[in-house]
Amino acid sequence: MSDPLIIVGSGMAGLGLARQVRARDARRAITLITADSGADYSKPLLSTGFAKGMLPERLAMRSPIDVADALQMTMRTHTRVDAIDPQTQTLAIGVERLPYGELVLATGAAPSAPFTVADEVRDRVFTINDLDDYRLFHAALSRHGGAARVAIVGAGLVGCEFADDLLAGGHRVALVAPEAAPLARLLPPALGRVLGGAMHDAGIDMRLGRTVASLQRDGETVVLTLDDGDTLPADLVLIATGLTPRTELADAAGLETSTAGIQTDRYLATSAPRIHALGDCACVAGLNAMYVQPLQASAKALAATLTGTPTPVAYGAWPVVVKTPLCPVVALPPRQSPARWRIEGEGSDLSALAEDENGYLQGFALTGACVRRKVELARAAPPLLP
Ligand SMILES: Cc1cc2nc3c(=O)[nH]c(=O)nc-3n(C[C@H](O)[C@H](O)[C@H](O)COP(=O)(O)OP(=O)(O)OC[C@H]3O[C@@H](n4cnc5c(N)ncnc54)[C@H](O)[C@@H]3O)c2cc1C
Repeated sequence: MSDPLIIVGSGMAGLGLARQVRARDARRAITLITADSGADYSKPLLSTGFAKGMLPERLAMRSPIDVADALQMTMRTHTRVDAIDPQTQTLAIGVERLPYGELVLATGAAPSAPFTVADEVRDRVFTINDLDDYRLFHAALSRHGGAARVAIVGAGLVGCEFADDLLAGGHRVALVAPEAAPLARLLPPALGRVLGGAMHDAGIDMRLGRTVASLQRDGETVVLTLDDGDTLPADLVLIATGLTPRTELADAAGLETSTAGIQTDRYLATSAPRIHALGDCACVAGLNAMYVQPLQASAKALAATLTGTPTPVAYGAWPVVVKTPLCPVVALPPRQSPARWRIEGEGSDLSALAEDENGYLQGFALTGACVRRKVELARAAPPLLP
């Protein structure tokens, strides 16, 4: 039998690809190797779970055994791939060497913290980037009992969604970020201020324009000292300061990478033969979108390629829906800085249209009631990857 297709990673990219390949080829030998539990879950639901009091086990849609059974593939969970040798086409897992016919890297992206966390506070400081992280944070909240004081560091999509969700779950939330308004990478400041205002009005302690100077323990409390000298007591700290594509395996194997991820072409092919990449770890034709729709399109195209029909991937004009019920937000950020943002609407119902110098729409951002313009504007905007 020929060497199998090996997929590294069981996130939405890795499992999505396995599903697509199996749908096209019932007999292909597939092995999926993952460092985590391998449960099939939807990562976007992690930041909606606390409002609904969702137990971690309810977020797992299928166990790895059920997934492996349904897809007739071999699954190795809690198994970290240590190295790739493109010359011999083998993977290293400890002392084991595993040959591959085709290899797909779907290793995702890892949370990056802007400061080191001292041992004395480590048991109170969390990130939530997968189901195992959610389980740990959920357990810490449960141990605390009742309303916990949660300080969130970072006001991007993940920080804002967890702030909204934890507040709705009955916790006391503070949000610390260096930017003057939330979602600075998705929204122009006027719309960011709308979201920030809604979060403040709902009772979130907004510490914008501030960084964390230190984290110290005071009994059962963690004290965050901010750069203006102010202090913020918390029971738990959640760091949401961005994700860095996991490129270590690819780097060590000599594949082309950048800070945006493992470089691939439209066929998701890396610079090494028989190695492809997709999802949050991959920078596809110069773009690492880090959202679900692009990775789903990638999984579909790559499955076609791997089963004999070479297929380039294309991304549409797919806006991001931010899950902040306190103030609905939709954004399709322009790929380049626009010539201008045209802001329409009033109060918390704003549309911001990113236009080039000829007045053509390049992207948009919507808040409040204006989110209903999502479909109409997405039709008029250029695709992310034509
Ligand atoms: C809280 C949150 C909310 C989000 N909400 C949305 C949303 O509403 N809409 C949207 O479009 N996107 C959203 N996203 C982004 C989206 O969820 C991600 O883009 C997507 O899930 C990434 O999937 P992935 O498979 O590429 O990576 P991951 O899910 O990170 O999976 C990576 C896998 O690789 C494995 N791995 C890594 N290194 C190794 C190794 N050396 N050996 C073996 N295995 C390894 C890991 O164990 C894991 O299984 C959200 C993200 C977060 C964190």
